[in-house]
Formats: sequence, structure tokens, C-alpha cells
Amino acid sequence: MRIITELYDKKLICPVCENEYTSKKVKSSKLRVEKRDTDLMTYYKGENPLLYSVVVCNKCGFSYLDAEYKGIKKESKKVILEKITSRLSNKNYMDTRTLEEGEETYKLALYCAELIDSKKIYLASLALRLGWIYRLKGDYENEYRFLKNALKLFIYSYEKENLSESYFDKKTVEYLIGELYNKTNDKENAIKWYNIVVSNNPGANMRVENLAREQWQLIKNSTK
Ligand SMILES: [Zn+2]
Repeated sequence: MRIITELYDKKLICPVCENEYTSKKVKSSKLRVEKRDTDLMTYYKGENPLLYSVVVCNKCGFSYLDAEYKGIKKESKKVILEKITSRLSNKNYMDTRTLEEGEETYKLALYCAELIDSKKIYLASLALRLGWIYRLKGDYENEYRFLKNALKLFIYSYEKENLSESYFDKKTVEYLIGELYNKTNDKENAIKWYNIVVSNNPGANMRVENLAREQWQLIKNSTK
């Protein structure tokens, strides 16, 4: 087992079975950002918190993004116990994680989220992050597949869900839709969405508005 001093054990109580367990997280004081990709994926000098965002209960198997968690219905708990717990392997994800193990935790979290009919914005967040894990692995085909998947989910969510309680603000969702179109080679729709970012409610999130302007310019320059 690798000992990594940037990590600590976060104590958690499983919302499904009330089991107390721990999951590794990167200490926020140790986070050193190296660079960011245009779809907001962040690289760090040490351990990447992306690998530890999903927590997996070692007793019932319920897997979720604890930072984006919004509660679970009673009926959903039953579904998890029936469908996940009965199929549980002996593996636990409480220790340090390899990229492969990180990938597994996202797949588990996606499976749980689909089973209990979670909001599409939450599924989009999982799919996007799983795409990033594949980027770190150099698996372009799966990265593309999950970015496409995230794009569809973000669009659905933007059109049909209330984003006010979501982890992503509306402007960030607009920008991500544009950028995911861009990354999946649909420049026309990318430009359309960058325009939405800068013209709808300007000033709401200057960081992504500036990013949208830069990306718009890059596409314009490359098609001259
Ligand atoms: Zn549990």
C-alpha cells in the first residue's frame, strides 16, 4: 500500500445503511493546482482529488459524490440494498486508489445514480469526471464516449431541471455544453453555446464568460 501524506481519512456515515466508514480525501492545504483544461478538468502537482471524489460504503456498496450529495429517498435506499448490496464484491475503496480503482468507483456511482433515478445534472457530473479519468489514463475512445454522454445529460438538465441547487451554476453548465460540443468536434454548436454564455445574464460568472470568449476566438481563428 502506498502511504501518501497528502491524504487523510474522512469519516462518513452511509446515507443508505448508516454504516460508519472512512474514505481517503486530499487535504485541501496540500492541493497545488498545476493547470486546467478548457473543460475545467484540473491537474494537481500531487495526488489528484478526482480519484477520491466518489465514496463507496464498505458495507452496502452505496457509491456517490459526497460533495454533491442531496439526500436519498426511503424507496431508493431499498433499491440500493436489493440491487447493490446483494451483488457486492469483497473489494473496498477505503485506501489509496489507482486510476483503475478511481474508474471503478465512478462506474459504481453511475450505476447507483441510475438505479435510484438521480437528477441528470448529477449524472452529468459523474460522466464528465469519468471522462477525465479516461483522459488521465490516455484512453481517448472512452474519454470521448463519456464526454458525449455528459453533454447529452447537461443539455437535458439545462432544459428540464431546476439548477438552483446544483453543484454547477447555470453559466458553468452553458459553458460546459459549449466546450463539450467543441471537444466532440461540433464547432457550430460550440459557438452557439459560447454565445449564450456571454449574452445571457452577463457578469454572473466572469471566469467562464472569459473562457467562452477565448474558446470562441480560437475556433474563429482556426476556421479563417
Ligand atoms: Zn452503506
